[in-house]
Amino acid sequence: MTSQQLELIARRGLTLPEPTLTRLRSVGIWCEANLTVQRRDQDWLIRGQESGGAVNDIGRYVGFCKEDGSALSWLQPVKNFMPNGLHAILLAKGPIVAPQFFRSNGSEARVTHLYQQAIFKMTEDVTCTQCKHQHLLEPPSLEVSVADLESVKVSAPVA
Ligand SMILES: [Zn+2]
Repeated sequence: MTSQQLELIARRGLTLPEPTLTRLRSVGIWCEANLTVQRRDQDWLIRGQESGGAVNDIGRYVGFCKEDGSALSWLQPVKNFMPNGLHAILLAKGPIVAPQFFRSNGSEARVTHLYQQAIFKMTEDVTCTQCKHQHLLEPPSLEVSVADLESVKVSAPVA
């Protein structure tokens, strides 16, 4: 394998063989594995798209988790009428992780305990037929400080 091929794998992850990609396209499973980098204010952020799903005999899913294996929050969920496509947009400060099951030689990848929950979720979503929802990304938590709560003014119409 050439150094250019190794660099491409490092940037994009492993690619599936063309017959598999053709089969995924023909059954309507769409995944976006590429990540982009965006600048927001003073930060560089990583943008990814949780996507994919399954039909009866084949599935593919791209999902992301934090470096410690815990869930990330989505930036925007995507309500899609078509299954097995885009489910949510992710924007994270990074680093983020896209767990994989196998090495390039086809041997089973060792999964550290850290990523077991993410791997379980990936197993679930790669077999989720007609998938229309996120599996790894979660809704953002509402982090409201006491000062913010105290500054909220509630008004009601006077009868
Ligand atoms: Zn699903």
